[in-house]
Amino acid sequence: MAGKVGERMVPLGVLLKRELSGERVERPDVVHGQASQSKKGEDFTLFKTECERVPGDSVTTFSVFALFDGHNGSAAAIYSKENLLNNIISAIPSDLSRDEWIAALPRALVAGFVKTDKDFQEKAHTSGTTVTVVIVDGWFVTAASVGDSRCILESAEGSVYFLTADHRLEVNEEEVERITASGGEVGRLNTGAGAEVGPLRCWPGGLCLSRSIGDMDVGEYIVPVPHVKQVKLSTAGGRLIISSDGVWDALSCEAALSCCRGMSPDAAATQIVKEAVQIKGLRDDTTCIVVDILPPEKATPTVPPTKKSGKGVFKMFRRKSCESSSQTDKEPFEPDAVEEIFEDGSAMLSRRLETEYPICNMFKLFICAVCQVEMKPGEGISVHADSSKPGRVRPWDGPFLCPSCQFKKEAMEGKRPS
Ligand SMILES: [Zn+2]
Repeated sequence: MAGKVGERMVPLGVLLKRELSGERVERPDVVHGQASQSKKGEDFTLFKTECERVPGDSVTTFSVFALFDGHNGSAAAIYSKENLLNNIISAIPSDLSRDEWIAALPRALVAGFVKTDKDFQEKAHTSGTTVTVVIVDGWFVTAASVGDSRCILESAEGSVYFLTADHRLEVNEEEVERITASGGEVGRLNTGAGAEVGPLRCWPGGLCLSRSIGDMDVGEYIVPVPHVKQVKLSTAGGRLIISSDGVWDALSCEAALSCCRGMSPDAAATQIVKEAVQIKGLRDDTTCIVVDILPPEKATPTVPPTKKSGKGVFKMFRRKSCESSSQTDKEPFEPDAVEEIFEDGSAMLSRRLETEYPICNMFKLFICAVCQVEMKPGEGISVHADSSKPGRVRPWDGPFLCPSCQFKKEAMEGKRPS
């Protein structure tokens, strides 16, 4: 199978059949709005609603919504806004059917995030950024995130989901363990008199986040490997809210959803930002993106999202706790209208870049799984290789990294001096 798979030509007849079977299903209307109040000018957003999987074929359209909350300057946020999407798309093999494309997305998101971080760090800027990217293709929603901007989903049926993880050290014990094991130090700010104040931070640097793009001055264990979650909505649709921490520090997800119920996405985003600033004041950049995924006939703005009543709008036994970081507590007795297709938040590239058959065969063997550079046979290093334990991996165990990305991988795992 070596190297040939991604290069195959797809006969026109096959393409046509794919389009007819997969694409002619009813597609939702995707409507978005945003609002922002700026304090530091370090929040950036990206909207691309007319992306095409197959260039020139409008049936293959997908939408991208992204939020970048920069810190210590805006260079990393701006760089990510300009380059991340391209790096993600470049990591998806061409000639895939729609189903294959959606299945390949989680790995491509990981590759795109890591490449963006690596390329930015080569410019030696000191800033960093959180990133939340949401890709909507039909009823499929795929969210990838590093940092503490959050994306929540409320299905038309009334269930609420977190599509992102919180990479704040204060609330994420697993990440504290990972960073400590990689040689980082986690603790609170010491006032000098023995008193410790504020949230948990990573030292040196004092960053409160465990994952970001940029932050080369903090340490390689602050990794850009995103949490990725992919769901499929029912044809009743749902509403996404993507917000920076300025919103979530002030509003619970219930409060954010209920304060704007029935409003258009633009009005909803404005309302959420207004509520957040009213409660906490404008202490931070406060940005909100609202995306409605609607059945085509419900696209008229006069029809509010289906909601039964003001009280008890969340189904008590169906709702996922907004405080819980675990998203696996599914009730077995009621079928879920939202299908959870994929979720992985591991920081280990060896796990995140490995994809199961047949997805693995869609990626080219002699292309670096992160930066997509072409490699000569024998030049690539298995993502499972560990320079501290040579000989443990069969050299043909893909996927493969170029030497430079392999170096980056080991640095992220604390195996190289940064
Ligand atoms: Zn590479």
